Amino acid sequence: MAEEFVAKRLTPIAVPKVETKNRRIVTPQPPPQAIPLLEELSRYEPVSMTWDQLPVVWDKAEGHTVSDAWGNRWIDFTSGIFVTNTGHAHPRVLAAMRGMIDGKLVHSYYFPTAVRAKLTRLLVEAAPKISGIEKAFLLTTGSETTECALKLCRLRGRKRSPTKLKMVAWTNSFHGKTMGSQTMAGRAGAKAWIGSLDPNIHHLPFPYPWDADGKLSGAERFEKDMKALLATGIDAQDVAGFLMEPYQGWAALFYPKDYVQAVRAWADKHDALVCFDEVQSGFGRTGKMFAHEHFGVKGDIICCGKGISSGVPLSAVLSRSEILDVDPSLNSTHSGNPLCAAAGVATLEVLKDEGLAERAAALEPKVRERLLAIQKRFPNVVGHVFGHGLLWGLLLKGAKTGEFDVALGDRVTEAAINKGLLLIRTGVGSIKLGPPLTIAEDALFEGIDVIEEALAECLAPAAR
Ligand code: PMP
Repeated sequence: MAEEFVAKRLTPIAVPKVETKNRRIVTPQPPPQAIPLLEELSRYEPVSMTWDQLPVVWDKAEGHTVSDAWGNRWIDFTSGIFVTNTGHAHPRVLAAMRGMIDGKLVHSYYFPTAVRAKLTRLLVEAAPKISGIEKAFLLTTGSETTECALKLCRLRGRKRSPTKLKMVAWTNSFHGKTMGSQTMAGRAGAKAWIGSLDPNIHHLPFPYPWDADGKLSGAERFEKDMKALLATGIDAQDVAGFLMEPYQGWAALFYPKDYVQAVRAWADKHDALVCFDEVQSGFGRTGKMFAHEHFGVKGDIICCGKGISSGVPLSAVLSRSEILDVDPSLNSTHSGNPLCAAAGVATLEVLKDEGLAERAAALEPKVRERLLAIQKRFPNVVGHVFGHGLLWGLLLKGAKTGEFDVALGDRVTEAAINKGLLLIRTGVGSIKLGPPLTIAEDALFEGIDVIEEALAECLAPAAR
């Protein structure tokens, strides 16, 4: 990252004061008092840790707000990157973790615990009935779950034939940053470091609406692209599994329903597995407990993380016994750590008791209407509005179709933060909305107003 860029971020700029029920901006941004801490982090951490996002120094996060130590408070549209679906520091989640601490059980390796039994049962019960999920294997990060899915597909495939080990994923997808997960992810630049990519991991083009020739249905596009992939010399029987996110995260862009149904049908015909990476999309975010429920198809393996535990590291691979029970190595130092498992149990209970997936679904039409009104106001700038539930993306038009204005996305994010709305910097020309599912309605629409204000400000002639 350029030194000039870091220097800019270390220079506080005066911004107008903001004071509403939900937002408070009372210092320059970043606050001058934050600079020594930011400098210290810069000194002791890789540069990517401090400067990839804008320097909002979190001191407290509660419900739908994040505060720093100098009197500033933001409405949070990030949920800490889709983690705190139940809201930050939900009292029941805190109480569950406190219970473990007070009971003096914070680690158990993978010796049995009551809390792990409860969590795995609740996860199996929460999985879509259509998938016939029987078991849950607990891990720590999302990347581990997609690595695990890869392994499980291959273990099963190779029992059928030594060459049945091919995985199919999609361009521009994201599945994590470890070697297997990043190889399956679809961004060439991000995995260039690997050097020698696994020749048995293949990618299909993501079915972008702007790439469609207008004639093909989703199912036909899958058939056409799969045929082209097989024509490169792949035997259909050698495909062990598919790994797909229900939507591409950077854009909140879902696969067409009939496309996913065609993937499922193809997999069934050729004895391959379909794995859904629900690390970001799960736990009510899109108005359903799991986002692949929008497609009405079965998932053989469901990868979960992030929203599963409201903020402490926990992830899970859900599947059937015949798939999970064949691997004797499925356990790990922190599998089902009691503190994290307690947070997971409380999270699942809160999601259910507070009807949070249903709430996200109920808010969807109003949010869509409001975002489409923003698009209508800036038709030459907002190219697309995608989303479901409380997961949305505004794609800012670039010079050509399918290109996006990265610089404008960054400017709007910065302007919003300066006004007391916390957004993540996607770095790809999109504005992504993912507030806690518990967010008060007034804060939700106040936050969307701030996006509109920030856009207007960045587009004003003086700002260009
Ligand atoms: N899959 C998806 C869809 C994700 O969004 C992420 C995280 N952004 C991961 C996998 C990786 O999760 P983690 O960062 O916990 O390893």
